Amino acid sequence: MHNNEIKAGGRVGLSILGSTGSIGRSALDIVRAHPGRFRIRGLACGKNLGLILLQAREFLPELLSVDESLYDQVREELSGSGIRVMAGTEGACAVAALPESEVLLSAIVGEAGLAPTWEGILPGRTVALANKETLVVGGQTVIDRIRLKGARLVPVDSEHSAIYQAMRGHPWSGVRRVILTASGGPFFGKTRTDLDGVTREEALNHPTWKMGPKITIDSATLLNKGLELIEARWLFDLPADRIEVVVHRQSIIHSMVEFEDASVLAQMGVPDMKGPIAYAISGEERLPIGVPFLDLARTGTLTFFAPDHDTFPAIRLAARSIARAGQGPLYLNMANEVAVQAFLEGRISFTGIFEIWERVLSEAPLTVPDSLEEIRRAVARATALAEEAVAQTGVQSPASVPF
Ligand code: NDP
Repeated sequence: MHNNEIKAGGRVGLSILGSTGSIGRSALDIVRAHPGRFRIRGLACGKNLGLILLQAREFLPELLSVDESLYDQVREELSGSGIRVMAGTEGACAVAALPESEVLLSAIVGEAGLAPTWEGILPGRTVALANKETLVVGGQTVIDRIRLKGARLVPVDSEHSAIYQAMRGHPWSGVRRVILTASGGPFFGKTRTDLDGVTREEALNHPTWKMGPKITIDSATLLNKGLELIEARWLFDLPADRIEVVVHRQSIIHSMVEFEDASVLAQMGVPDMKGPIAYAISGEERLPIGVPFLDLARTGTLTFFAPDHDTFPAIRLAARSIARAGQGPLYLNMANEVAVQAFLEGRISFTGIFEIWERVLSEAPLTVPDSLEEIRRAVARATALAEEAVAQTGVQSPASVPF
C-alpha cells in the first residue's frame, strides 16, 4: 500500500484547492460534521480575506496558500499560529503536493486549477476532481500522469459522480452509452432572439444549483454541459457519440448509464453538491451529511427533454471540439473563460459568448500538447486569441453595469 492511500475507517488527511469557493465551503461543512474522519492539511484559496482567515483559524492547516496580494497581511494575521503561509500558483502547488494528504480536493475555478492539480497527482493519492477544466484543458496528458503515478481520479461533478457510482461492480464492456442530465439552466425554452438581451443578473440566477459565478454562467449558456461531455470523454474513455445529454429540469437524476441489455442505472438524490463531494473525499463511504432525503411522492413528476441545439450551440460545439481532436477542447475552454469574464464585466452580450467560442475554436491546432509546459503555451495562445476576439466583438451588454 502507498503512503497516500486512504485507510478504511481511518482519519483522512485532506487538502483543498479552492476552499473559499462554493465546493470548498461545502467540503468544509462535511469536515465540520465529521471531525474524527478528516484532518485538514492544506488549504489554497484566492482573495476572500475574511473567509480565508476564518477557515485558517478553525481548521489550522499546516500550509495555507493565498493570492499574492494578500500574502503580507495573512502572514501577519496568522503569525504565531504555526500555519505556514505561501502565495500564488507556487503556493497552491505546494498545498497540492503536501505528502501528508491522502485526498486532494481540486476545486479552484478555471484553468488556474490545472497546475496545482497536476502537482497533486501522487502515488496512491485520491484526487477528488471538481475542477473539470483540468481534464478539458489537460486531456490525455493528465490521464497519462494519473496512470503513471498510480493515483486515483474520483469525480466530484454530480453527473460524473453519478456515472462513477452506477458503474461500481459493472464492466465498461457492457455499457452502450452514458446519459448526462442537464438542468437546462435559467433560459430553458427561450429562443436565440430572447437570449440577445439577457443580463448578467438573469444569467446568474440558476434554478436548482447554487454555484460560483463562472460555472453559473456556464450553466446558463449550457457550455457547462459541453465541458462535462469533454470531462466524461476523458474520465470514462468514451467517444463523444456514446455520451448523450438529456434535459431534466428537477436535477433529481444526476446521470445514467445505459447497458447493452437495455437496462439503465440512474443515481438520484436531492440536488446538493455535498453528496458527490462526501463520496469522493471519504474513499467512497456513505456518510450522513445533513442533505434532505429524497421524497419522490412529493417531487411528483420527473421530466426529460432533448436539448435545444439551435438556441444553445454549446453541446454540439463541445462534441465538435472532441472530434477535431488536437487542442479543440483547450481552445474552447480558454475562449469560454475569457468570454464569460468579458460578459460579467459588461464588455460583451450573452450571445457574444457563443461567437467567441466559434471564432477561437476554429483556430485550434491539431497537435496535442504532451507536457504541462506545452499545455501552458497553448493556453497562452488560446487566451490571447480569445482576448482579441472579445476586443473585436466589443458589444456592450444591454442592461449591464460594471461588476
Ligand atoms: P467558486 O467561484 O465558488 O470558487 C472558486 C475557488 O477558487 C475560490 O476558493 C477562489 O478563491 C479560488 N481561486 C480562484 N482562482 C484561484 C487561483 N488562481 N489560485 C487559487 N485559488 C483560486 O467556484 P465553484 O466552487 O463553484 O467551482 C469550483 C470548480 O468546481 C469549478 O471548476 C467548477 O466547474 C467545479 N464544479 C462546481 C460545482 C458547484 O456546484 N459549484 C459543481 C461541479 C463542478 P477566492 O474566492 O478566495 O478568491
